[in-house]
Amino acid sequence: MRYSLGVDIGASKISFALLKGKHCISKDKISTPKKQKDIIEAISNIISRITRHISSQQIKGIGVGVPGPIDKEKESVLNPPNLKALFKFPLKKVLQKKLSFEVKIENDANCFVLGEAVIGAGKGFRKVIGLTLGSGVGGGIVFRTARNQWKIYTGAFGGAGEFGHMTIKFDGLKCSCGNFGCLEAYASAKFFERKSKYSPKEIENQARKGNKKAIALYREFGKNLGIGIANLVNVLDPEVVVIGGSISKASQLFLKETKKEAKKRILSPYSKRFVKIKIAKLGDFSGAIGAALLPEIQNYD
Ligand SMILES: [Zn+2]
Repeated sequence: MRYSLGVDIGASKISFALLKGKHCISKDKISTPKKQKDIIEAISNIISRITRHISSQQIKGIGVGVPGPIDKEKESVLNPPNLKALFKFPLKKVLQKKLSFEVKIENDANCFVLGEAVIGAGKGFRKVIGLTLGSGVGGGIVFRTARNQWKIYTGAFGGAGEFGHMTIKFDGLKCSCGNFGCLEAYASAKFFERKSKYSPKEIENQARKGNKKAIALYREFGKNLGIGIANLVNVLDPEVVVIGGSISKASQLFLKETKKEAKKRILSPYSKRFVKIKIAKLGDFSGAIGAALLPEIQNYD
């Protein structure tokens, strides 16, 4: 069985996972350096450390998740909103030069959904969508073909799966993208910060102590998310919707509301009855594990 490596480049942390087949056998994380040069050096150092006892013939490839859109040819990062150091950076080319095995790059939310679909909360299903709830809302669409190959649906121009920027309120609040009423303004950390001046974690702690306002805020958040999920189910008809990201750890406080609101708004009686809304299983390393599965994917179309 061959090995594959996954790297998830986040704004504050870079996570790594080494997979043997579909089993994660080693993982690690470091703080994200500020400069482009240092990011590349840190990644190549940790890769050589993790793989020092494995010959390059045994390594199938490396997948890299990046926080932002990438161009259709999968060669470079376009405009990562939280990681300016990689703006228009030809990441694949640069890493490929340093490493002796194949490199693939992909949007980090797509990596998250791929990881959860193949070995996480979406395991056993064929049509999987996922959302990451944190400082923003990320999304991805993956499916398994009749030939048992996993694919990421990236759309005609590579922009598919931007669930955070789906309008859920046509005259709603201004979003960081410039549009109004996006899901991200109502179902990410921004919602809590705007409504309370506290972070989701702080509100979670207050809610767990029984603070009624905090509990109500999480319920409202859950309802907003449910509206977004109903739209996605009505358009994409997945078997399962996987919810991850830092805020998903507080699912006890919002998931019931999310399911209730989503079911109310889903049209198809089959989807209403059978679609699953589940919390991610792979934890903080789901992005890196998903990235490590990229070399398994045959092609993107
Ligand atoms: Zn937006």
